[in-house]
Amino acid sequence: MSWETKARAHFRAELDSIRSAGLFKEERVIRSVQGAEIEVEYPPGAPPRKVINMCANNYLGLSSHPEVVRAAHAGLDERGYGMSSVRFICGTQDIHHRLERRLTEFLGTEDTLLFPSCMDANGGVFEACFGEQDVLIADRLVHASIVDGMRLCKAMQDTFKHSDMAHLEEKLIEHAGRRFRVIVTDGVFSMDGDLARLDAIADLAERHDALVFLDDSHATGFIGKKGRGTHEHCGVVGRIDIITTTLGKAMGGASGGCVSGRRELVEMCRQRARPYLFSNSVAPEIVAGALQVMDLVSRSTERRDRLEENAAYWRKGLSEAGLDLRPGDSPIVPVMLYNAKLAQEFSRDLFQEGIYGVGFFFPVVPKGQARIRTQLSAAHERRHLDLGIAAFRKVGAKHGILGLKRKEILAKFGE
Ligand SMILES: *Cc1c(COP(=O)(O)O)cnc(C)c1O
Repeated sequence: MSWETKARAHFRAELDSIRSAGLFKEERVIRSVQGAEIEVEYPPGAPPRKVINMCANNYLGLSSHPEVVRAAHAGLDERGYGMSSVRFICGTQDIHHRLERRLTEFLGTEDTLLFPSCMDANGGVFEACFGEQDVLIADRLVHASIVDGMRLCKAMQDTFKHSDMAHLEEKLIEHAGRRFRVIVTDGVFSMDGDLARLDAIADLAERHDALVFLDDSHATGFIGKKGRGTHEHCGVVGRIDIITTTLGKAMGGASGGCVSGRRELVEMCRQRARPYLFSNSVAPEIVAGALQVMDLVSRSTERRDRLEENAAYWRKGLSEAGLDLRPGDSPIVPVMLYNAKLAQEFSRDLFQEGIYGVGFFFPVVPKGQARIRTQLSAAHERRHLDLGIAAFRKVGAKHGILGLKRKEILAKFGE
C-alpha cells in the first residue's frame, strides 16, 4: 500500500469517527451580507432562505453598517488593498498608528499594538512578556486562544476554578515566590455569557502584587456604560495591566485584534511577539473601517443601549415561554437543552421556523450541557425578537420541554 493510500484510509477513518460521534461540524453558506436577517443555503445546495440570525457576534450591528462600509471603501482608495509586509519592515501606515491611539483612548490604557487577530494577540503576548520565573494563573474557562498562547510561553501554568475568588487567592499565595504572577481571565465568558468578577480580581491583584490579563473580545464596544468593556462595567479602568481584544466581533466584525495596556508590556510585544513580527499587517481597508467603528462607538451609546434593551426583552420573552436560560446580563443568552441530540434537532426545527441558532455540545461545552447559544444584536428589531420568541415557544412545545428544568430534561432525554 502506498503512503498516499495508507494516509487517506487513516484520515477517512478519523473523519468517520468524528461523524459517528455526532461531532462533525458543517459550514452553512450565507448568500447575503451579515445582519439581523441573512440568506442561508441550508441544507447544502438548497435554495437560499431568509432567516433571522440569532448567533452572530455582530453585537452592535456594525458588520455591514453603511458608514463602516463607506469608510472601508475610502481606505481602499486612499491606502490601497494590502501592505505586502509585516509591520516592522514596511507594513505600518499612519492609519495603523491612528487606530492604535484610538483604541488606547477607548480602552483607557497606555499603549496599544494591532495584531492580525485576537487569536494572534493571545498567541504572542505571553511568550513576549513572561518566562520561566513567572506563573500564569488562569480561570478554568478561558478561551482556547489563551490556552494556546500560554502553552507557547515558558512560564509556569496554573488555573483557578471558574470565577472562584477564594481559590484564586489560594493560588496567588501558593505562588508567592514567583517573579511575576499573572491572573488570566476573559471579560465575558463566551459559552455562558457571565462576566468575570474583575473588581474582586483587581483587588486581589493589588493585595498580592500580581498582574491582571483580560481578554475582552466578547465585551469591547458594548459592556459598560460607554461600552469600553468589562473593566468599565466593574469600575476598574486603569487597573488592568494587559487587555487583548478583537475587531472581529462587535467592532465591525472584519478582522484584527490588539494587545493594549502598560507601555512597557506593549513595547515588549512590539519587540518580541511572533505573530506581530511574522504575520502580515492588518489591511488598510479594515483599519479604515475600524477607525469609523471607533467614531461610531465613541460618538454615542445608542447602539449599546439598544443591545442591552434587546437582550433584556429576549431574556424575558424566552423565560416567560418556559425555556431554561443561563442567568446573566450580557447579550449572550444560552438556552439550555442539556442533551446533544436534542440541541441539534432543536436547531434544525428553529431553522424551519426561520430562526438561525446553532446547537453547541461536547467538546465545545461539557457533556450534559448542550445548548443553543443565542446572541443579541443592536440590529435586531422588535419584530425579529417577537418572531424568535414565538419560534422557540413552538419548537419547545414540540419537544415537550417548556417549563422543564435541567433534571427533568435530562430525565426525559438523557445526556
Ligand atoms: C473570538 C475570540 C478570540 C479570537 O478573536 P479573533 O480576532 O477572531 O482571532 C479570542 N478570545 C476570545 C475570548 C474570543 O471570544
